Amino acid sequence: MKLAILSRAPHSYSTQRLRAAAQQRGHNVKVLNTLRFAIDLSGDEPDLQFRGKRLSDYDAILPRIGNSITYFGTAVVRQFEQMDVYTPNTANGITNSRDKLRASQILSRHGIGMPETTFVRNRADVRPAIERVGGAPVVIKLLEGTQGIGVILAPEVKVAEAIIETLHSTKQNVLIQRFASESRGRDIRALVVGDRVVAAMRRVASGDEFRSNVHRGGTVEPVELDPDYEQAAVRSAQIMGLRVAGVDMLEGNDGPLVMEVNSSPGLEGVETATKLDVAGAIIDYMANQVAFPEIDVRQR
Ligand code: ADP
Repeated sequence: MKLAILSRAPHSYSTQRLRAAAQQRGHNVKVLNTLRFAIDLSGDEPDLQFRGKRLSDYDAILPRIGNSITYFGTAVVRQFEQMDVYTPNTANGITNSRDKLRASQILSRHGIGMPETTFVRNRADVRPAIERVGGAPVVIKLLEGTQGIGVILAPEVKVAEAIIETLHSTKQNVLIQRFASESRGRDIRALVVGDRVVAAMRRVASGDEFRSNVHRGGTVEPVELDPDYEQAAVRSAQIMGLRVAGVDMLEGNDGPLVMEVNSSPGLEGVETATKLDVAGAIIDYMANQVAFPEIDVRQR
């Protein structure tokens, strides 16, 4: 297949591994900088320019869209969809997963376990909201944070109220979430490709940190997932419209609590922890979809 990886980081571990996996399998692969596309809507057919020239034909794209360019990046992905180029992750899927509230709203009607979460704006509604999710300590999250930035554990209701008020006063939207202390600073990252988990790891927070992100000093270990975790991960990715996803789950008392579904999961941590060829699994899945397209019921 002729494959374009849309990425602004050609030298990152993930992009390099994906490119190498595609090459090893005899595919024609290019890494194209997402920001160098021009979306052309003037002609008869939807079209794309890349670096000022008409883009040649591709069978598939693998979008690796960073948080800072979501709007433009998803517009480019949507244009490829209009041109009937296969993508495992649609523009809608990426947009849905990027906003923690929107993602939780979509997942909540499908019986996916999640930490109790509320979203309020008025000052008078903050305290009752904190009480509803179980009181302090309580987790406060910026809607579009990543790598653990913007995730705060407030030890007391008064402190939580002050933090939320401050964030509201700077026009930031925040989620209020039950602190799943039973997860003990650990969470699970499951790499979903198609309808299966191809690799999973447990991330363990360091010292007295409650966030297990590797960027926050967390360590990783491979983990064999129980079927309920596997199912929660695969279903969450499918509901979001993502065929390649990293699903983050807390280990709740009654099983998995899905926190987040990432549309451009990093491969370094999970491949290092598990010694599995996740990049190869992604490329094989895509090549199979290009050769034998499944009927795609995802919303465009
Ligand atoms: P990010 O997208 O920035 O990684 P997350 O929502 O995944 O933000 O939270 C970062 C980390 O904080 C998680 O990996 C987990 O270890 C911890 N965490 C987040 N929410 C909760 C919660 N409700 N209860 C306990 N720990 C949490």
